[in-house]
Amino acid sequence: MTDFPPIAFNRAPPAPDFPWPNGAKSALFVGFDVDGETAWIGNRPENGDRLVTVSHGGWDGRVGIARILDLLEEVKVKATFFIPGWTALAHRLQCEAIVAAGHEIGHHGYLHRRPERSAFDAARAEIDRGFEALDRALGVRPVGYRAPSGENFPELLAYLADSGIVYSSSFRDDFRPYRHLLHDDRPGPIEIPVNYAFDDWNFGMTSRVDPRPIFGRDAVLSLWIDEFEATHAWGGCTTMVLHPQVSGRPMRWHLLRDFLRHVLAKGDVWIATGAEIAAHYRACEAA
Ligand SMILES: [Zn+2]
Repeated sequence: MTDFPPIAFNRAPPAPDFPWPNGAKSALFVGFDVDGETAWIGNRPENGDRLVTVSHGGWDGRVGIARILDLLEEVKVKATFFIPGWTALAHRLQCEAIVAAGHEIGHHGYLHRRPERSAFDAARAEIDRGFEALDRALGVRPVGYRAPSGENFPELLAYLADSGIVYSSSFRDDFRPYRHLLHDDRPGPIEIPVNYAFDDWNFGMTSRVDPRPIFGRDAVLSLWIDEFEATHAWGGCTTMVLHPQVSGRPMRWHLLRDFLRHVLAKGDVWIATGAEIAAHYRACEAA
């Protein structure tokens, strides 16, 4: 039987207490995962023969990315787009528009394969291919990483740090950024933890191969506002995990707009990209 020594899985020291810029009381990190079709084929290649199933992801290239860019332009918010390398190559024009609009591009694997510790070589190859594809398609070398299918393991975290990844935005164990401690005791990337209540997939995606309940505007907006307000009161960072194939759909686009307007109306929230939050963290750390 597998046993585990009674040691905390995450040995990173507690998140330090540091102020947000410009007297802001909390931060909002608007992160999109531009999975496209990879969300459907990366871990389930059998879906490659199911055009209708994969077409959920096709929304990104045909509609979602452009609509999300329109929204961000309207509310004057800069976001981070974590893009699997495959998506950047397959939807190059749409992804170029993300770069042209001044948003940050983050690493999100190549084919959205979930990193598995038992297959470290494959996990490393997925990282390398992701970097190569983002460079080839967009001329970008990302500093941020969000784990495809939200998984990671110690050796991979070290590999990411050695590959120039400055921050990760995948873990669910804090409401403020902290710095990872690698398995060999070196300092690791900064973590900007996600709040899983802000993963739109949980509320707005259902499909024949993965049926689940979906939730309407009132349920999600009240959850998001309540969760944001409580995080704001604690001085934390509200980190969103959005997908154009979910929040780029008509009703959810309006829901996201209503949420962003609520945050903007506060006037004391620092809305920043992952790279900006990581840079601020480093500056506070150095001071
Ligand atoms: Zn994803």
